[in-house]
Order: sequence, then structure tokens, then C-alpha cells
Amino acid sequence: MSNPLKPSTILSAFCLLSSLLAPPVLASGEVNIYSARKEDLIKPLLDDFSRQTGIAVNLVTGKEEALLQRLQSEGANTPADMLLTTDAGRLSAARKAGVLQAVKSEALTARIPASYRDPEGYWYGLSVRARPIIYARDRVRPADLSTYENLADPKWKGRICVRSSDSVYNQSLVAGLISHQGEARTEAWAKGLVANFARPPAGGDRDQIKAVAAGECDVTLANTYYLGGMVNSSDEAEKQAAAKVAVFWPDAQTTGVHVNVSGAGITAHARNRDNAVRLLEFLAGDSAQRWYAETNNEYPVNPAIPPSATLKAWGEFKADTLNVAKLGELNATAVQVMDRAGWK
Ligand code: FE
Repeated sequence: MSNPLKPSTILSAFCLLSSLLAPPVLASGEVNIYSARKEDLIKPLLDDFSRQTGIAVNLVTGKEEALLQRLQSEGANTPADMLLTTDAGRLSAARKAGVLQAVKSEALTARIPASYRDPEGYWYGLSVRARPIIYARDRVRPADLSTYENLADPKWKGRICVRSSDSVYNQSLVAGLISHQGEARTEAWAKGLVANFARPPAGGDRDQIKAVAAGECDVTLANTYYLGGMVNSSDEAEKQAAAKVAVFWPDAQTTGVHVNVSGAGITAHARNRDNAVRLLEFLAGDSAQRWYAETNNEYPVNPAIPPSATLKAWGEFKADTLNVAKLGELNATAVQVMDRAGWK
């Protein structure tokens, strides 16, 4: 009777067992993050990173603006090595505030397209969100939609819901338009858009989508992950609202759809700089990219990684290739333009 357990089988079984029982790689330091992203979105990835590298990760979660203020007030005494936040407008503000340092990394420049990172490496985009037009399936024909600029046409009078100009998402959208069309033309556009509002701006992106579904207005502008979250929501009402709307990708023939990033930068006074760079490279890597983007219904920043099924269902689109850092540079101008246009 032959032994069913060949030596090679025993060996590989032993290897598997020992790798399962093996203690984690001995800690070789730590890295401290200030994160404006939800903990469930980032924690499993950080645990993965720690398992692979032995580097302990300490996470402090907070609101975007509060974390930036904290970094500024802590100055050289900050324990933070990395700031993780959303929107190029906020990332640029962090650079401007002097709380970030430039980082050069071949892995990062290879994985992240140039338009999604700071030109000098002060921050890197890690996931992409688009801000398309979202419309009521039963009241709007896609053929009537074309560009962001066209939303100022009087044919949309009383039909548009948009959140307030306090939203950095709208500020970044307007900054993009200013970059492409100039300040005067963008201001005229903003005035036309405001004249078409169905109601004064109120609520977040999700609320605008719900207002379209409820018939309060026919079109809105919203970040893709909000709609993705509604499509996959455990709340039946949200799911039904999402089913009543559709995505239109504007500016397909011109500058492309306004896109933005979530991203991270290494702090100016990082004590664990090398570990932080390693973590940043890990977050831009294949498995992290897939998980990070899918968990929040975002597009991977690395074009080699396909988007989730939810996002794929909306079809492909031409993204604006403007460097998102421009959105931060023009933020103050955008705020002034919206103010002059009466965008509350
Ligand atoms: Fe958001």
C-alpha cells in the first residue's frame, strides 16, 4: 500500500501550516495617518499593509478641514506622517498651508497618471470620482443633454438641483471650467445655472439625486460614488431612487467629464517618512487599488485596474485631462465667481 502523502505534499502542507501559524513579521517601525476617509474604507487595507511589512499603522480619523487645521497648529510636533483626504482642492490647500513635503517615487509615478497627482509630488491621487450630470429617466432625453455649459440654457429653467457653493466639489467643478473657458465665460455660465435652479441649494449630493428621483427637479450634478452607494444601498428607498435616474457623461466632444481624486501626501515633518512612502506606494498598488476603489464605488486611479461592475454599467467616458492640481490653484477664483453669480 503506497503512502498517499508524498514528501512534497507533506512539505507544502507544512509550509502552509507554518505560514498560517507564523507570527506577523516583526514590527519594523510605524506610520501615523490623519485620515478624512471613513475608517471601514481604509482600515482593512492598513491591516494588510501591516501584515505584509511589519509596519504598525496608527489611524486618526476626522473631518477634512479639522485635520488640516490640526496639522497646521501642531507644526513640527505633529505625530502625523501622512494626510489622507478627498478632493484636489483640499490636497492643494494642504500643500499651500505648508503641511506636506514633496516625494519622488518611481512606483507612484508609474501607477498614477500625471493628471491625478501634484506635479511636484506633494500629494498623489489614490482614487478617482467623476461629477457627471444625473437626470430623471422619465423626464429627460439624453439627446437634450450635452455639456456642463449647456445647463445654463433657459430650456432648463426651474429644472436643476445642485448643492451649495460651499461644497468643495462644486468649487472644483467651477475651477475646472475657469481653467478651460476663462473667468468671464464661467461667471456668465454660473449666472445662467443659478437662474435655472428649481430650489435654493440644500443638502448633499445624495439629496440632489433623491430630489431628481422625487420629481423636484430633472437634472443635477453629483459625484459618481454617491450614486454608486445608492445603487448598492441596503435602504430600499435609496435603491428605488437610484433606479429612477441615469448618468450622462457631459463634454464628450470637448474637454471631458470633470474628475477629481481622493489622495494623500506625506507631512512636512514626518518622522516615519520612509514607512509613509511605502504605505503610499502600497495604496497605489494593484490589490489596494481594486479594494479601495470598489469599497467606496470609485474609479481606481491606476488605469490598469478595471472599475467595479456598478461603475462599468454606466459606460465609459472621456475624463478631463486637466491636472487636478489646477482645481486647487483656481479654488479662490471659483469661490468668487460663484459668489458673484449668486450661487448660494
Ligand atoms: Fe463626498
